[in-house]
Amino acid sequence: MSLPTERLINELQSYGVRLVDPKAGLESRRGGAGPSDHKALTIDGMTFMAPVHTAPAFESPYVVEKPDRSGRSRVLRDGEALAEVRFPERPRFYDLVTADGVPYWQIATLHGPDVLATTVLQSCIRYQSRTKTCRFCAIGQSLAAGRTIERKTPSQLAEVAEAAAELDGVKHMVMTTGTPRGADRGAAVLCESANAVKNRVYLPIQAQCEPPDDDHWFERLKSSGVDALGMHLEIVTPEARRRLMPGKAEVPVDRYLSAFAAAVPVFGRGQVSTYILAGLGDSVETILDISVKLVALGVYPFVVPFVPISGTPLESHPTPSPDFMHAILKPLSKMLVDSGLRATDIKAGCGKCGACSALSTYERKLSS
Ligand code: SF4
Repeated sequence: MSLPTERLINELQSYGVRLVDPKAGLESRRGGAGPSDHKALTIDGMTFMAPVHTAPAFESPYVVEKPDRSGRSRVLRDGEALAEVRFPERPRFYDLVTADGVPYWQIATLHGPDVLATTVLQSCIRYQSRTKTCRFCAIGQSLAAGRTIERKTPSQLAEVAEAAAELDGVKHMVMTTGTPRGADRGAAVLCESANAVKNRVYLPIQAQCEPPDDDHWFERLKSSGVDALGMHLEIVTPEARRRLMPGKAEVPVDRYLSAFAAAVPVFGRGQVSTYILAGLGDSVETILDISVKLVALGVYPFVVPFVPISGTPLESHPTPSPDFMHAILKPLSKMLVDSGLRATDIKAGCGKCGACSALSTYERKLSS
């Protein structure tokens, strides 16, 4: 069995992997926002997150051998070696502690090959009520387990960002946030955080929040040092939005579209993006239809396979099949390359990192 790299990554993200040595590589994150219950792996120069702690991963036909001392390993299926795999090394900044005694890894973590990621506010108005919470979200779990702190101060973020850039060559930063009370929906806390980081170290920053009520926040984010902005639809079909993310669905898709139209002139074409979780009810056609609209607006649709996180109401929800993802990513990557919206041109953030989806690997194939 021989698969092109983009198809193999697609398979590994859908099925997950079984690790012969569960301790190999970087400690996988459990709970929290962003990729969770995943392990970072690199094949053919592409770093991606593969589920390892999820129910489907325990049944995966893919096995990753114990790595050698340099972090090299192989991925096998039915005993046949399919590719060489590398585990990223533990970043050096993880060993540092702030003056007030907080380990740096509780403030921000390494995502993908070279991204520093933080959740500035590890609490969310949507998460506090059972009727409002996004069914797939685990933002409170890592906090409850003591793996992070609730509020990362601007000076803590600046300190960690500087160390991560100097010691580990981190190239860009993702700042996401739970949604606080207030019409800014987190934009204000992202402004002060980005400002503090940029005053300390030059690191392109992507901020992520729900669309604020007022579009003037886009100029303020930009002038605070935010280079790229993510406003994440997650799901597109109204019924599925209401059922799976009832709080977040109070901000309708139309508001996202008007916010995108206002944000793109501020940040530039391709510097505004959205995350779409494939496998939660949207059809291939629905995702491709909204992608056409988004690309026309200059927005990069980062479509990722849904991964169920242990402890969430959707922990037993199936992951999308590799064929379902291929049916989206193949035409979507062509759409993006044809319109000049490529992951490699994004200044910072998830679309640039690309580790949660095989999308950028599909793009790379078309561009080579
Ligand atoms: S794509 Fe985004 S969430 Fe996923 S590993 Fe990269 S920075 Fe983190």
